[in-house]
Amino acid sequence: MRAEFQERLIALLGERVRFAVPLARYTSFRVGGPAEVFAEPDTVEELRALVAFLRQEAVSYFLLGGGTNILISDKGVCGAVIKLGEGFDYSRWEETGDTAQVRIGAARPLGRFVREAIGKGYGGVEFAEGIPGSAGGGLLMNAGAFGGELSRVVVSISGIYADGILVRLPGGELGFAYRRTALPPGLIVVEIEFCLRRERSDLLMAAMLEAQRKRQRTQPHGHPNAGSIFKNPPGAYAGVLIEAAGLKGLCRGRARVSERHANFIVNLGGASASDVKALMGQIQQVVWEKDGVWLEPEVRLVGEW
Ligand SMILES: Cc1cc2nc3c(=O)[nH]c(=O)nc-3n(C[C@H](O)[C@H](O)[C@H](O)COP(=O)(O)OP(=O)(O)OC[C@H]3O[C@@H](n4cnc5c(N)ncnc54)[C@H](O)[C@@H]3O)c2cc1C
Repeated sequence: MRAEFQERLIALLGERVRFAVPLARYTSFRVGGPAEVFAEPDTVEELRALVAFLRQEAVSYFLLGGGTNILISDKGVCGAVIKLGEGFDYSRWEETGDTAQVRIGAARPLGRFVREAIGKGYGGVEFAEGIPGSAGGGLLMNAGAFGGELSRVVVSISGIYADGILVRLPGGELGFAYRRTALPPGLIVVEIEFCLRRERSDLLMAAMLEAQRKRQRTQPHGHPNAGSIFKNPPGAYAGVLIEAAGLKGLCRGRARVSERHANFIVNLGGASASDVKALMGQIQQVVWEKDGVWLEPEVRLVGEW
């Protein structure tokens, strides 16, 4: 990477830009190679200047949230990885009567927002108790659980295009579907606006505890993972198909299909991204041969493969 390019980035972001940064520690899977550039802008102005500069230099970028739904390749990511800094971790509440309009910075941990809402007596996001990652990543993935999903409470988002233009898009234009949105390519979400309704605190607490109990009962603990590896195909559960195919416990290198929940792959320690990817491919093949269903990854594959 050209020294002049690096110097100009440092002039823009100071110590909030680094080079050749290993990404494994920024992901819940704990695998993945380095990012050529790792930038953590703290304000909208910094972010706009950064994307404008990258565009001018024809350098691609990937937006990293909490890293809980991605598999980064062992070779890492060419170009820049942008992780929104602390300046994007906030919540602003406007409470009127029985509803609250809340604006959340995209870097705010989703779980913190959920507990804040429950603490204030507002419902609509209690299903998301226990979903790790950032509000921005949750929005992008239309995160959901136990019959709820974020799309139902999103009013609008603010985001930045690759040319640095800041836009506000209403929720109805985000193309929400099962575990995805159809946002314009390259759009970086900086803020999400939610509408929540007042509810009885005891019911909210009960829903939150129930969500915690279900996760405790069904999901693996103790080994790094990225949640559900595959989306549920229409009318079926990926985990049930994988278990019925006898794949629980199957290993590739240090990656294993969880014994506890067949739709989780766990890193036993030292797994490579290629181990995980190979295991995913093997699962897809076996389930296809047995049931004629091609499982679609929920986890996003990132970087050079
Ligand atoms: C133990 C465990 C349990 C889980 N349970 C659930 C569950 O019940 N339900 C569920 O839906 N998911 C679940 N997940 C998956 C994951 O937590 C969610 O998908 C989460 O919302 C991803 O958020 P993130 O910030 O980690 O996104 P990342 O993994 O960092 O990124 C995901 C995608 O969003 C994009 N992105 C992130 N932030 C932005 C932004 N600001 N602007 C534009 N693009 C952005 C990234 O580029 C990437 O394409 C689980 C994961 C784990 C590890």
